[in-house]
Amino acid sequence: MTDTPDQYGVAGHPVAHSWSPFIHGIFAKETGQSMVYRLYDFTPEEFRERVVEFFQGGGRGLNVTLPHKVAAVEVANELTPRAARAQAVNTLALQGDGRLLGDNTDGAGLVRDLCDNFNVVITRRRILIIGAGGATRGVIAPLMALEPLELIIANRTAEKARTLAGDFQDLGPVSGVGFAYVPGGTFDVIINATSASLSGEVPDIPVGVIGEDTVCYDMAYGKADTAFIQWAVQQGCSHALQGWGMLVEQAAESFRVWRGVRPPTGPVLAALKERAARV
Ligand code: NDP
Repeated sequence: MTDTPDQYGVAGHPVAHSWSPFIHGIFAKETGQSMVYRLYDFTPEEFRERVVEFFQGGGRGLNVTLPHKVAAVEVANELTPRAARAQAVNTLALQGDGRLLGDNTDGAGLVRDLCDNFNVVITRRRILIIGAGGATRGVIAPLMALEPLELIIANRTAEKARTLAGDFQDLGPVSGVGFAYVPGGTFDVIINATSASLSGEVPDIPVGVIGEDTVCYDMAYGKADTAFIQWAVQQGCSHALQGWGMLVEQAAESFRVWRGVRPPTGPVLAALKERAARV
Protein backbone atom coordinates (compact mmCIF):
# COMPACT_ATOMS: atom_id res chain seq x y z
CA MET A 1 0.00 0.00 0.00
CA THR A 2 1.33 3.45 -0.90
CA ASP A 3 0.65 6.66 1.03
CA THR A 4 -1.52 9.24 -0.77
CA PRO A 5 0.46 12.45 -1.25
CA ASP A 6 -0.87 15.53 0.57
CA GLN A 7 -2.91 17.84 -1.66
CA TYR A 8 -2.03 21.47 -2.27
CA GLY A 9 -2.77 23.96 -5.02
CA VAL A 10 -3.33 27.51 -6.15
CA ALA A 11 -6.80 29.05 -6.57
CA GLY A 12 -7.20 31.99 -8.92
CA HIS A 13 -9.16 33.28 -11.93
CA PRO A 14 -7.49 33.08 -14.39
CA VAL A 15 -4.85 30.68 -13.12
CA ALA A 16 -3.66 28.71 -16.15
CA HIS A 17 -0.57 30.97 -16.49
CA SER A 18 0.67 30.08 -12.99
CA TRP A 19 4.11 28.54 -12.49
CA SER A 20 3.33 27.54 -8.89
CA PRO A 21 2.87 23.78 -9.61
CA PHE A 22 6.33 23.70 -11.23
CA ILE A 23 7.89 25.59 -8.30
CA HIS A 24 6.27 23.56 -5.53
CA GLY A 25 7.04 20.34 -7.42
CA ILE A 26 10.75 21.17 -7.23
CA PHE A 27 10.50 22.30 -3.59
CA ALA A 28 8.80 18.96 -2.71
CA LYS A 29 11.53 16.94 -4.45
CA GLU A 30 14.35 18.94 -2.87
CA THR A 31 12.94 18.61 0.64
CA GLY A 32 11.59 15.05 0.28
CA GLN A 33 7.96 15.99 0.96
CA SER A 34 5.14 13.78 -0.34
CA MET A 35 2.68 16.21 -1.91
CA VAL A 36 0.87 17.13 -5.11
CA TYR A 37 0.13 20.72 -6.18
CA ARG A 38 -2.57 21.58 -8.74
CA LEU A 39 -4.24 24.57 -10.41
CA TYR A 40 -7.81 25.49 -9.37
CA ASP A 41 -9.70 28.01 -11.51
CA PHE A 42 -12.44 29.30 -9.19
CA THR A 43 -14.64 32.24 -10.23
CA PRO A 44 -15.33 34.92 -7.60
CA GLU A 45 -18.93 33.69 -7.27
CA GLU A 46 -17.90 30.11 -6.41
CA PHE A 47 -14.64 30.87 -4.56
CA ARG A 48 -15.80 30.31 -0.98
CA GLU A 49 -17.78 27.13 -1.73
CA ARG A 50 -15.00 25.54 -3.77
CA VAL A 51 -12.34 26.32 -1.15
CA VAL A 52 -14.47 24.66 1.54
CA GLU A 53 -14.95 21.64 -0.78
CA PHE A 54 -11.20 21.42 -1.38
CA PHE A 55 -10.41 21.23 2.33
CA GLN A 56 -13.36 18.93 3.12
CA GLY A 57 -12.02 16.64 0.38
CA GLY A 58 -8.68 16.24 2.14
CA GLY A 59 -6.76 19.29 0.84
CA ARG A 60 -4.00 20.56 3.15
CA GLY A 61 -3.14 23.97 1.76
CA LEU A 62 -3.95 26.51 -0.96
CA ASN A 63 -2.23 29.50 -2.39
CA VAL A 64 -4.69 32.22 -3.31
CA THR A 65 -4.02 34.51 -6.23
CA LEU A 66 -5.88 37.25 -8.10
CA PRO A 67 -8.64 38.23 -7.70
CA HIS A 68 -9.36 36.31 -4.48
CA LYS A 69 -6.83 37.55 -1.90
CA VAL A 70 -9.24 39.86 -0.11
CA ALA A 71 -12.14 37.35 -0.27
CA ALA A 72 -9.88 34.69 1.27
CA VAL A 73 -9.71 36.72 4.51
CA GLU A 74 -13.35 35.76 5.17
CA VAL A 75 -12.76 32.09 4.40
CA ALA A 76 -9.98 31.73 6.99
CA ASN A 77 -10.91 30.94 10.60
CA GLU A 78 -7.90 32.82 11.90
CA LEU A 79 -5.21 35.10 10.44
CA THR A 80 -1.51 35.49 11.10
CA PRO A 81 -0.57 39.03 12.23
CA ARG A 82 0.84 39.88 8.78
CA ALA A 83 -2.35 38.70 7.00
CA ALA A 84 -4.51 40.58 9.52
CA ARG A 85 -2.46 43.72 8.89
CA ALA A 86 -2.77 43.30 5.10
CA GLN A 87 -6.42 42.18 5.16
CA ALA A 88 -5.38 39.95 2.26
CA VAL A 89 -4.51 36.24 2.25
CA ASN A 90 -2.34 34.39 -0.27
CA THR A 91 -1.85 31.19 1.77
CA LEU A 92 -4.48 29.00 3.43
CA ALA A 93 -3.25 26.21 5.67
CA LEU A 94 -5.33 23.50 7.36
CA GLN A 95 -4.40 23.27 11.04
CA GLY A 96 -4.36 20.16 13.21
CA ASP A 97 -7.63 21.23 14.88
CA GLY A 98 -9.41 21.53 11.51
CA ARG A 99 -9.32 25.33 11.46
CA LEU A 100 -8.10 27.24 8.41
CA LEU A 101 -5.20 29.62 8.95
CA GLY A 102 -4.85 32.56 6.54
CA ASP A 103 -1.37 33.98 5.98
CA ASN A 104 0.22 36.46 3.58
CA THR A 105 3.70 35.74 2.24
CA ASP A 106 3.71 38.31 -0.60
CA GLY A 107 5.48 41.02 1.41
CA ALA A 108 8.18 38.69 2.68
CA GLY A 109 8.67 37.42 -0.90
CA LEU A 110 8.96 40.90 -2.43
CA VAL A 111 11.33 42.24 0.23
CA ARG A 112 13.53 39.15 0.02
CA ASP A 113 13.79 39.45 -3.76
CA LEU A 114 14.30 43.23 -3.88
CA CYS A 115 16.62 43.60 -0.90
CA ASP A 116 18.47 40.25 -0.68
CA ASN A 117 18.58 39.07 -4.29
CA PHE A 118 18.96 42.49 -5.96
CA ASN A 119 20.40 44.63 -3.12
CA VAL A 120 17.78 47.34 -3.63
CA VAL A 121 17.66 49.90 -0.81
CA ILE A 122 14.24 50.99 0.51
CA THR A 123 15.31 52.91 3.61
CA ARG A 124 15.02 56.72 3.15
CA ARG A 125 14.04 56.23 -0.52
CA ARG A 126 10.96 57.44 -2.46
CA ILE A 127 8.80 54.45 -3.34
CA LEU A 128 5.87 54.37 -5.81
CA ILE A 129 3.52 51.38 -5.90
CA ILE A 130 1.12 51.24 -8.82
CA GLY A 131 -2.06 49.28 -8.05
CA ALA A 132 -4.18 48.89 -4.95
CA GLY A 133 -5.33 45.29 -5.10
CA GLY A 134 -4.59 42.26 -2.95
CA ALA A 135 -0.88 42.14 -3.80
CA THR A 136 -0.33 45.77 -2.76
CA ARG A 137 -2.13 45.13 0.55
CA GLY A 138 0.37 42.40 1.34
CA VAL A 139 3.53 44.38 0.66
CA ILE A 140 2.89 47.78 2.28
CA ALA A 141 3.67 46.86 5.91
CA PRO A 142 6.91 44.97 5.09
CA LEU A 143 8.06 47.90 2.91
CA MET A 144 7.16 50.47 5.59
CA ALA A 145 9.11 48.43 8.14
CA LEU A 146 12.21 49.39 6.10
CA GLU A 147 11.42 53.08 6.71
CA PRO A 148 11.23 54.63 3.23
CA LEU A 149 11.17 58.41 2.90
CA GLU A 150 7.63 58.11 1.52
CA LEU A 151 5.45 55.50 -0.10
CA ILE A 152 2.89 56.60 -2.70
CA ILE A 153 0.17 54.21 -3.83
CA ALA A 154 -1.20 55.18 -7.27
CA ASN A 155 -4.25 53.41 -8.63
CA ARG A 156 -6.55 53.66 -11.65
CA THR A 157 -9.46 53.85 -9.19
CA ALA A 158 -8.12 56.64 -6.98
CA GLU A 159 -10.54 56.01 -4.13
CA LYS A 160 -9.11 52.51 -3.60
CA ALA A 161 -5.59 53.93 -3.31
CA ARG A 162 -6.73 56.54 -0.77
CA THR A 163 -8.60 53.97 1.32
CA LEU A 164 -5.65 51.60 1.28
CA ALA A 165 -3.22 54.34 2.28
CA GLY A 166 -5.56 55.29 5.11
CA ASP A 167 -5.40 51.73 6.46
CA PHE A 168 -1.61 52.01 6.85
CA GLN A 169 -1.28 55.64 8.10
CA ASP A 170 0.02 54.49 11.47
CA LEU A 171 3.14 53.02 9.82
CA GLY A 172 4.52 56.30 8.45
CA PRO A 173 4.27 58.48 5.32
CA VAL A 174 1.90 56.47 3.07
CA SER A 175 -0.46 58.26 0.69
CA GLY A 176 -2.86 57.20 -2.05
CA VAL A 177 -3.59 59.01 -5.35
CA GLY A 178 -5.05 58.56 -8.82
CA PHE A 179 -2.61 58.23 -11.72
CA ALA A 180 -2.95 61.90 -12.72
CA TYR A 181 -1.97 63.06 -9.23
CA VAL A 182 1.30 61.19 -8.68
CA PRO A 183 3.58 63.79 -6.99
CA GLY A 184 6.35 65.22 -9.17
CA GLY A 185 9.99 64.23 -9.25
CA THR A 186 11.60 60.87 -9.82
CA PHE A 187 11.18 57.86 -7.56
CA ASP A 188 13.95 55.55 -6.37
CA VAL A 189 11.83 52.40 -6.66
CA ILE A 190 8.65 51.90 -8.71
CA ILE A 191 6.71 48.68 -8.19
CA ASN A 192 4.00 47.67 -10.65
CA ALA A 193 1.41 45.76 -8.64
CA THR A 194 -1.38 46.04 -11.19
CA SER A 195 -2.61 43.13 -13.27
CA ALA A 196 -2.27 45.30 -16.42
CA SER A 197 0.75 43.32 -17.65
CA LEU A 198 -1.40 40.18 -17.87
CA SER A 199 -3.28 41.82 -20.77
CA GLY A 200 -0.23 43.55 -22.24
CA GLU A 201 -1.28 46.97 -20.95
CA VAL A 202 0.71 49.66 -19.14
CA PRO A 203 -0.79 51.72 -16.28
CA ASP A 204 -1.29 55.31 -17.34
CA ILE A 205 1.19 56.96 -14.95
CA PRO A 206 3.17 60.16 -15.65
CA VAL A 207 6.42 59.58 -17.58
CA GLY A 208 8.57 61.82 -15.36
CA VAL A 209 8.67 59.37 -12.46
CA ILE A 210 11.66 57.43 -13.79
CA GLY A 211 15.16 58.81 -13.25
CA GLU A 212 18.65 57.57 -14.07
CA ASP A 213 18.90 55.31 -11.00
CA THR A 214 15.26 54.30 -10.61
CA VAL A 215 14.62 50.60 -10.05
CA CYS A 216 11.41 49.44 -11.76
CA TYR A 217 9.97 46.15 -10.52
CA ASP A 218 7.02 44.41 -12.17
CA MET A 219 5.35 41.89 -9.87
CA ALA A 220 4.15 40.24 -13.07
CA TYR A 221 6.57 38.09 -15.05
CA GLY A 222 6.80 36.44 -18.44
CA LYS A 223 9.20 34.67 -20.77
CA ALA A 224 9.65 37.99 -22.60
CA ASP A 225 9.72 41.44 -21.02
CA THR A 226 6.30 42.45 -19.67
CA ALA A 227 4.57 45.54 -21.09
CA PHE A 228 5.56 47.51 -17.97
CA ILE A 229 9.21 46.48 -18.24
CA GLN A 230 9.24 47.47 -21.94
CA TRP A 231 7.69 50.83 -21.04
CA ALA A 232 10.18 51.41 -18.21
CA VAL A 233 13.14 50.67 -20.49
CA GLN A 234 11.71 53.04 -23.13
CA GLN A 235 11.61 55.74 -20.42
CA GLY A 236 15.33 55.23 -19.79
CA CYS A 237 15.20 52.80 -16.87
CA SER A 238 18.36 50.70 -16.65
CA HIS A 239 17.28 48.59 -13.66
CA ALA A 240 14.02 46.92 -14.75
CA LEU A 241 13.18 43.68 -12.98
CA GLN A 242 10.42 41.10 -13.41
CA GLY A 243 8.71 39.39 -10.47
CA TRP A 244 10.18 35.88 -10.90
CA GLY A 245 12.12 36.16 -7.65
CA MET A 246 9.11 37.37 -5.68
CA LEU A 247 7.14 34.47 -7.07
CA VAL A 248 9.71 31.94 -5.87
CA GLU A 249 10.39 33.63 -2.52
CA GLN A 250 6.70 33.98 -1.57
CA ALA A 251 6.18 30.35 -2.62
CA ALA A 252 9.07 29.20 -0.41
CA GLU A 253 7.52 31.04 2.52
CA SER A 254 4.12 29.39 1.87
CA PHE A 255 5.86 26.01 1.66
CA ARG A 256 7.46 26.68 5.06
CA VAL A 257 4.05 27.56 6.56
CA TRP A 258 2.59 24.27 5.24
CA ARG A 259 5.46 21.84 5.72
CA GLY A 260 7.65 23.43 8.41
CA VAL A 261 10.72 23.43 6.16
CA ARG A 262 12.01 26.33 4.04
CA PRO A 263 13.26 25.10 0.65
CA PRO A 264 16.29 26.69 -1.03
CA THR A 265 15.16 29.14 -3.74
CA GLY A 266 18.27 29.57 -5.94
CA PRO A 267 17.95 26.28 -7.86
CA VAL A 268 14.21 26.79 -8.48
CA LEU A 269 14.73 30.30 -9.80
CA ALA A 270 17.39 29.05 -12.22
CA ALA A 271 15.18 26.13 -13.37
CA LEU A 272 12.20 28.44 -13.78
CA LYS A 273 14.04 30.92 -15.96
CA GLU A 274 15.44 28.12 -18.12
CA ARG A 275 12.04 26.48 -18.46
CA ALA A 276 10.28 29.79 -19.21
CA ALA A 277 12.84 30.56 -21.92
CA ARG A 278 12.00 27.24 -23.61
CA VAL A 279 8.16 27.53 -23.50
P1 NDP B 1 -6.01 42.41 -7.97
O1 NDP B 1 -7.00 41.87 -8.95
O2 NDP B 1 -6.34 42.34 -6.52
O3 NDP B 1 -5.73 43.98 -8.29
C1 NDP B 1 -5.50 44.38 -9.60
C2 NDP B 1 -4.96 45.82 -9.61
O4 NDP B 1 -4.56 46.10 -10.96
C3 NDP B 1 -5.97 46.88 -9.23
O5 NDP B 1 -5.29 47.91 -8.54
C4 NDP B 1 -6.48 47.38 -10.61
O6 NDP B 1 -6.93 48.71 -10.59
C5 NDP B 1 -5.20 47.31 -11.41
N1 NDP B 1 -5.39 47.21 -12.87
C6 NDP B 1 -5.87 46.15 -13.57
N2 NDP B 1 -5.83 46.41 -14.90
C7 NDP B 1 -5.31 47.65 -15.04
C8 NDP B 1 -5.01 48.49 -16.15
N3 NDP B 1 -5.26 48.08 -17.41
N4 NDP B 1 -4.44 49.68 -15.92
C9 NDP B 1 -4.19 50.09 -14.66
N5 NDP B 1 -4.46 49.37 -13.55
C10 NDP B 1 -5.01 48.16 -13.75
O7 NDP B 1 -4.63 41.68 -8.30
P2 NDP B 1 -3.41 41.38 -7.32
O8 NDP B 1 -3.17 42.61 -6.51
O9 NDP B 1 -3.62 40.11 -6.61
O10 NDP B 1 -2.20 41.13 -8.36
C11 NDP B 1 -1.65 42.21 -9.10
C12 NDP B 1 -0.49 41.72 -9.98
O11 NDP B 1 0.60 41.28 -9.19
C13 NDP B 1 -0.84 40.55 -10.91
O12 NDP B 1 -0.18 40.75 -12.15
C14 NDP B 1 -0.24 39.36 -10.19
O13 NDP B 1 0.07 38.30 -11.09
C15 NDP B 1 1.02 39.99 -9.61
N6 NDP B 1 1.52 39.29 -8.44
C16 NDP B 1 2.76 38.68 -8.52
C17 NDP B 1 3.29 38.04 -7.44
C18 NDP B 1 4.62 37.40 -7.55
O14 NDP B 1 4.92 36.57 -6.70
N7 NDP B 1 5.46 37.77 -8.51
C19 NDP B 1 2.57 37.93 -6.17
C20 NDP B 1 1.31 38.65 -6.17
C21 NDP B 1 0.82 39.26 -7.28
P3 NDP B 1 -8.47 49.09 -10.22
O15 NDP B 1 -8.55 49.06 -8.72
O16 NDP B 1 -8.67 50.44 -10.79
O17 NDP B 1 -9.34 48.05 -10.87
